Amino acid sequence: MAQITILGGGLTGRLMAFLLSKQEHSIRLFEYGSKDGDHSAAFVAAAMLAPMAEAVDATPLVLSLGYQSLDLWKNIINSLPQKLFMQFSGSLIVWHAQDIDISKRFSQQLQRGNGGKEVWQNWNTNDITQNKPQLANRFAQGFYLPTEGQLDNRQTLLALANAIEAAGVKCHWNTAVSLDEISNQTNDWIIDCRGFGAKNDWNTTGKSKLRGIRGEVARVYAPEITLNRPVRLLHPRYPLYIAPKENHIFVIGATQIESEDESNVSVRSGLELMSSLYAVTPLFGEARILELATGLRPTLDHHDPEIRVNKDKKIIYINGLFRHGFMIAPAVCEAACRIFDSMLNGHLMEKDEKTGITFNIIE
Ligand SMILES: Cc1cc2nc3c(=O)[nH]c(=O)nc-3n(C[C@H](O)[C@H](O)[C@H](O)COP(=O)(O)OP(=O)(O)OC[C@H]3O[C@@H](n4cnc5c(N)ncnc54)[C@H](O)[C@@H]3O)c2cc1C
Repeated sequence: MAQITILGGGLTGRLMAFLLSKQEHSIRLFEYGSKDGDHSAAFVAAAMLAPMAEAVDATPLVLSLGYQSLDLWKNIINSLPQKLFMQFSGSLIVWHAQDIDISKRFSQQLQRGNGGKEVWQNWNTNDITQNKPQLANRFAQGFYLPTEGQLDNRQTLLALANAIEAAGVKCHWNTAVSLDEISNQTNDWIIDCRGFGAKNDWNTTGKSKLRGIRGEVARVYAPEITLNRPVRLLHPRYPLYIAPKENHIFVIGATQIESEDESNVSVRSGLELMSSLYAVTPLFGEARILELATGLRPTLDHHDPEIRVNKDKKIIYINGLFRHGFMIAPAVCEAACRIFDSMLNGHLMEKDEKTGITFNIIE
């Protein structure tokens, strides 16, 4: 049994608390924002679990973690007492006729990223109409990626918070803490899950550098529209995804801007998101905009997630989940639990064989 303090209760902080609470540890968690998770990147995210589509530009490690996490999420969500939105019916990629060249490049990258396999089905107008009547006659072709899924980010964050509280984790919501403060005050094991909030400490303790990448999304309510899986639009300037959640709510995203500015969504980004959405189907013209939101994706130079370990100071740092946090967090957090166990048992693992993650051991 160990005394553990988790810094940051966004996606990874809550998941670590959830996984570790299955053992007899005494755990406390400090989160700057509320129990809803409103200060995390995870609160803004679309929560798509899309390792096939992300193969276009994600690293092989991220893809492998993404595939492993699909089943892990199913187990986690099914083990929670509340019934949560979870969909594993694939996703559809579409493009306008003039963008056919982009679709060809996309399919080549998709194939390359998925080890040479043609992981998609080619859909024609009839297939699209049959499967998504509200996109009838909008697109001549599409790629259907069968094994992808999505969650509801906000439901998942809240359900995890309820589960860890019920399991006895002492959660201090609305409480910002610093790493120095906690490590000077206690002899606890510390797990730093502060995402972008860990930037200063992260950038002074190891090689890879952490930065935030701004992402903007819209949430709209469109009672006339039903989509049974996420849709991505390939576009030379304004690529877009539409992630349908429960009750006709759609998360529309997302910009990817090299900036750590967390201020409100710009007019330009709002216009781009809305005009791409309208171009997918004008039925969205009467949708109501519920929210425009910004988040910073915690990103490392190499675009992989990283688990750093300082054995002497008893600190595990988890960061760099970038734009794939939901897609990979279960596998990353399970690997972090295994290195934690290995340290408790007195033999420090250098690599997690199951996930392929190499731990970064620092002094
Ligand atoms: C626009 C957008 C869309 C996205 N879409 C997807 C998607 O579709 N699929 C996907 O897989 N991923 C997506 N992501 C990525 C995903 O949200 C992140 O990778 C993930 O949230 C990172 O998890 P984290 O726990 O490291 O950071 P966060 O979720 O940001 O959590 C960090 C937490 O630490 C807290 N914190 C910071 N400093 C302190 C402090 N000093 N004291 C206490 N607490 C502190 C913060 O309040 C926050 O709650 C998206 C991200 C954005 C921004």
